[in-house]
Amino acid sequence: MRQPLVVGNWKMNGTRTSARDLAAAIAGGLPANCPVAVGVCPSFVFIPAVAEQLQDTPVQVGAQNVADQDAGAFTGEVSAPMLKEFGCTLAIVGHSERRLIYGEGDALVAARYQKAIEHGICPLLCIGETLEQREAGETFAVVDRQLQAVLDVAGIDSLKQAVIAYEPVWAIGTGRTATPQQAQEVHAHIRRQLAAQGEEIAAQVRILYGGSVNADNAASLFAMADIDGGLIGGASLKADSFLSIVKAAA
Ligand code: 13P
Repeated sequence: MRQPLVVGNWKMNGTRTSARDLAAAIAGGLPANCPVAVGVCPSFVFIPAVAEQLQDTPVQVGAQNVADQDAGAFTGEVSAPMLKEFGCTLAIVGHSERRLIYGEGDALVAARYQKAIEHGICPLLCIGETLEQREAGETFAVVDRQLQAVLDVAGIDSLKQAVIAYEPVWAIGTGRTATPQQAQEVHAHIRRQLAAQGEEIAAQVRILYGGSVNADNAASLFAMADIDGGLIGGASLKADSFLSIVKAAA
């Protein structure tokens, strides 16, 4: 019922040429009638080249962030209308690297999410706890707070046009992935919490897992009932490993 989705978050990597080549290799390597929805999120500056390369392919193009404003004196920001002009249909918001390295708080993340929704871009809302929070038994409280901050602004119905990504911070770029059971426990919790606010939406919203997903562990994660695909960092930078992960979601 929920179509699996696998998205590559290329983070701050590559060159114009390598980004274009990677996009071409991914699109060229997808099976015909692939049952998995696929997206890639290059650096802002590579979006035009990648979008052009992916024209007439099923691979969606996304941004790694989106401004909380439409236009104006907001140095360094890129707005949802700008992203739309270049063919973006997705935008990551609230990635832990934005939250923790660049100090983006729940309110800003909620405003960014709201702008994506307003302009018809699907936000990929990232939530997840740090190792310290997990060890203190705060995992559920943290993801609840991060999610509710967004729902308070955008409303539960916004999830019809959004995707949630559970990314435990301790599993990102560390090679230490959550076990399928650890991830499923949190995904099921998120869906239960949402069900209390809207059963149909909770059943329909896709919840991706992110954090050291690779070609070897993807299938066991995606086999879990509430894991609907992945948000892939390091392993999305090589076409063959990314395509293996896509295959594992089918
Ligand atoms: P890694 O797959 O490199 O751990 O990164 C995950 C991530 O942050 C995706 O957004």
